[in-house]
Amino acid sequence: MSGNESRLQAISNIINRQKTVVHKPEPLDKIWATDVFNLAKMEEALNKSAFKAVKQTVQTGAPLDPAVADVVAAAMKNWALSKGVKFFSHIFYPMTNITAEKHDGFIVTNAEGNAITEFSGSLLIKGEPDGSSFPNGSLRMTNAARGYTAWDPTSPAFIMHTENGSTLMIPSVFMSWTGEALDKKIPLLRSISAMDRAAKKVLTLMGETDIAPLNSSCGAEQEYFLVDSNFALARPDLLLAGRTLFGAAPAKGQQFDDHYFGAIPERVQVFMQDFEDQLYRLGIPAKTHHNEVAPGQFEIAPYFESANIAADHQQLMMTLMKATAKKHGFMCLLHEKPFAGVNGSGKHVNWSVGNATQGNLLDPGKTPHDNLNFLLFCGAVIRGVHQYGPLLRAVIASASNDHRLGANEAPPAILSVYLGDQLEKVFQDIKAGNIATSKKGGEMDLGLSQILKFERDPGDRNRTSPFAFTGNRFEFRAVGSSQSVSGPLVAMNTMLADSLEWIADKLKTELDSGKDQTNAVLAVLKQLMEQHGNVVFGGNGYSEEWHKAAVEERGLKNLPTSADALPYLRDDAIRELFARTGVFTPVELESRFEVYAEQYILSIEVEAKLVIEMAKTLIYPSASQYLAELSVTHTSMADLGIEMNNAVVSTIAQETNAMLTTVADLQAAIEKHDFDSIEAHMKFCANDIRSLMDKVRSHVDMLEGEVADDLWPLPKYREMLFIK
Ligand code: ADP
Ligand code: MG
Repeated sequence: MSGNESRLQAISNIINRQKTVVHKPEPLDKIWATDVFNLAKMEEALNKSAFKAVKQTVQTGAPLDPAVADVVAAAMKNWALSKGVKFFSHIFYPMTNITAEKHDGFIVTNAEGNAITEFSGSLLIKGEPDGSSFPNGSLRMTNAARGYTAWDPTSPAFIMHTENGSTLMIPSVFMSWTGEALDKKIPLLRSISAMDRAAKKVLTLMGETDIAPLNSSCGAEQEYFLVDSNFALARPDLLLAGRTLFGAAPAKGQQFDDHYFGAIPERVQVFMQDFEDQLYRLGIPAKTHHNEVAPGQFEIAPYFESANIAADHQQLMMTLMKATAKKHGFMCLLHEKPFAGVNGSGKHVNWSVGNATQGNLLDPGKTPHDNLNFLLFCGAVIRGVHQYGPLLRAVIASASNDHRLGANEAPPAILSVYLGDQLEKVFQDIKAGNIATSKKGGEMDLGLSQILKFERDPGDRNRTSPFAFTGNRFEFRAVGSSQSVSGPLVAMNTMLADSLEWIADKLKTELDSGKDQTNAVLAVLKQLMEQHGNVVFGGNGYSEEWHKAAVEERGLKNLPTSADALPYLRDDAIRELFARTGVFTPVELESRFEVYAEQYILSIEVEAKLVIEMAKTLIYPSASQYLAELSVTHTSMADLGIEMNNAVVSTIAQETNAMLTTVADLQAAIEKHDFDSIEAHMKFCANDIRSLMDKVRSHVDMLEGEVADDLWPLPKYREMLFIK
């Protein structure tokens, strides 16, 4: 069979596909949060005192009385049963980017053999999956792999529907019997507490007396690709690695920019609508969707929510997105760089902090006093990114995100902060001591709320910055599309907590020395900018000059690969940061390093094996078949006395041989296992293995341009990107 047959078959399948039947969209108020056991439903179902207790827990994180848990469990079960649910599951987030579940039935039988249902407070609170098959890093040794899940009442339970039935899902944390965090939720909750404690110190020094619990908020913009499943199924690399390991650039790529914000293809619109209706049922506020820069690339962004809930919802969205795409005959690619030479996918994490009494603290506010609070919190972020840039780089490190960071479309692997011209000038003026502070005792109006309104215009924003202020929040743009938002949120909350502690300390000293509030704040911010102002950068982050200047003149770190970044999780300063703030114990942090390093190595090894297999079993056969056909033709022509041009034959022969030689080198490389350290193993993957993989690819992509189209076995870029 020639290669083209399977490709033509795929194309014909796509042309003749049956349209996915979707139900007519229902009005929002009919479907909104129908599958969520939220506070409104609890209020209906619970007695007054139980509801009050749960509400207190949901809003402040206060522990819940076990007796109340029994009441909640009963109500939750009745609600779920009334919707046809027979199973429940604690849902949790292990250290990988995945979401894990273990389902149990409500059913038990009684002495008469009747089926009755049971769901107690203790079942709601605690589940016991066997933790042994989740990667736990060094915690595996210390805890004999036992782990249990515990209900997180601050994130509402919900129902997941599939063709095969519906399940009540209970958001949970996952920890070892000795109390170590084995997941991504516990550190997130701890980082919020650390930030809350530190922020309260600063706000108290600023004279605030009524201070509600502080939380961070998150709105994540998710980019993704849709490829028809007929093509995806014909590409082992898309199936197993989520990206194309081979593929020559098409004649038309994204140069025309005609896809960005263009009309959404109809089939994709149908998918989006189906997907978003499911999100609404789950109480996830999907808000914007549009085409992205690359052909076949799209974005969805929900309205922001508190960090813990946003993180749960983000995981749920990724799961649902893939499942819904499948239903519509697509494969949804969340990989950061599925197609070489085409824009990659990121996840912009919009983040701010605030509470019910002071509001959003990254919003300049309307009064001079608000302006001061804003400057302090904004300053805290600047210091955090400067002090802990390598940590921010480490929490977004993955084999897949490495392909995107530092390429010519995504933020560089150097962490800097973009403030916008006007706010940058305010901070530079503070640093230079140019802000008038003459008004004795009175408040000074910095007029920030007026000038910053300006900067909210998205057109003004610097898209080349990995970490940008966007009017009332920061946007961490270097996060990868397939990653959990928890790691970045933990890092941002923790660095903020640390900076706010630093600020509280300095502010107290200044106030104690007799300065008024405004002058004390300006004095602290002056010191802050002198020590950390180097991280503020408003220029072109993609430029070569910046790469040079950032490192040589400003002393910032450029960490292009995960092998460079992940070892920072073992850095003393970072270990102390997490220990001091109570977010990770040193053992917990070490286990993260081990898990992420292992995953990095594993994913590169899987790809390398695939490269070898595809080169040998798909590319070599098609190239040699073409050579065989050509040589028969050339020989017969020679018999007729006609000499043929041998250029194509020699190119293919050379490229094929070179490909096989490199494949053999790659095979030898992945067999090497005697490394002195895991760091050395990572470096070997980042440098040696990846460059051999690239080398094989260059030969294969060259062959794609030479071998007859009807013999080429893999769907081509033009087909995958443009046929919908
Ligand atoms: P853009 O593409 O222009 O950056 P989008 O509208 O696509 O903006 O996404 C912006 C995201 O930022 C949305 O999820 C939005 O809800 C979120 N957001 C807005 N305000 C805040 C805030 N204070 N904290 C966190 N996220 C926010
Ligand atoms: Mg956007």
